Amino acid sequence: MHLPGPFDIIRVVELQGDFRVPEFLLPDATLEAVRASKIASDPRFYNAETHMLMMSFHTLVIRTERHTILVDTCVGNDKERPTLPDWHMRSGPFLADLAAAGVPAESIDYVFCTHLHADHVGWNTKLLDGRWVPTFPNAKYLFARTEAEHWSHVRETTDEPANHRSWDDSVQPILDAGQAVLVDSDYEIEPGIHLVPAPGHTPGNCILHVSDGKERAYLIGDTIHHPLQIEHPDWSSSFCWDPDLSRVTRKKFLNDVAETDALIMPAHFATPTAVRILGDAKGYDFETVEKG
Ligand SMILES: [Zn+2]
Repeated sequence: MHLPGPFDIIRVVELQGDFRVPEFLLPDATLEAVRASKIASDPRFYNAETHMLMMSFHTLVIRTERHTILVDTCVGNDKERPTLPDWHMRSGPFLADLAAAGVPAESIDYVFCTHLHADHVGWNTKLLDGRWVPTFPNAKYLFARTEAEHWSHVRETTDEPANHRSWDDSVQPILDAGQAVLVDSDYEIEPGIHLVPAPGHTPGNCILHVSDGKERAYLIGDTIHHPLQIEHPDWSSSFCWDPDLSRVTRKKFLNDVAETDALIMPAHFATPTAVRILGDAKGYDFETVEKG
């Protein structure tokens, strides 16, 4: 589906539906607070019968006159994630869906991962003759240097395979293929499209600012996982590396974009995904925005 905003932004979904109970993703959430929230009566974001958060795992593709830029690469196929049944050894139609949306893998100029968690790097690679090879043969893969150095260090200094092994099967092969570019956290891809540092969820987590001079969007990855965190910006996720810093970053971002025309496109907001932020620090709200 095409999202509103600058250039042409296309969303391709790998997984969408009931995800987990709010208390799993957001440890500060309580049943009472969730039931009292605005999303409790919005089936797009919360299933009141099952008490599950509705979430999406999708890629966003920005097409400008100069470049085709793919942001966040979901979970991927054939990846061994034994502790995560819905991510383990998948064989989904993501690549065919991407091509059907008019974006064949060969057309991608840049891949940008907002951070290097397993659900943001999966389609960086695909399995070919028993080897992990770059899925996007003509792309430069942009990783924030801070982020790549952090997970590389984790991989080298601990016994735990970093991020459910995704460093080994989805990041290291890109480095080995010479297609990775480690960039500063304010790197500009082309005029109007640049990274913005948003540390906390991970050390080198970045937002992508996208503007064509008329409209503006922020592709924010997991800086906000779920609309509940707009009403409750203090709620960091169980997967945040530094929950306190994540909270500070999220609140600053909300303050910057509230009551502006900026469109927010998180990595896990279910359809229709794009929102505008309303209100102020005393209480934030949002409205969904669909392409007119
Ligand atoms: Zn994520």
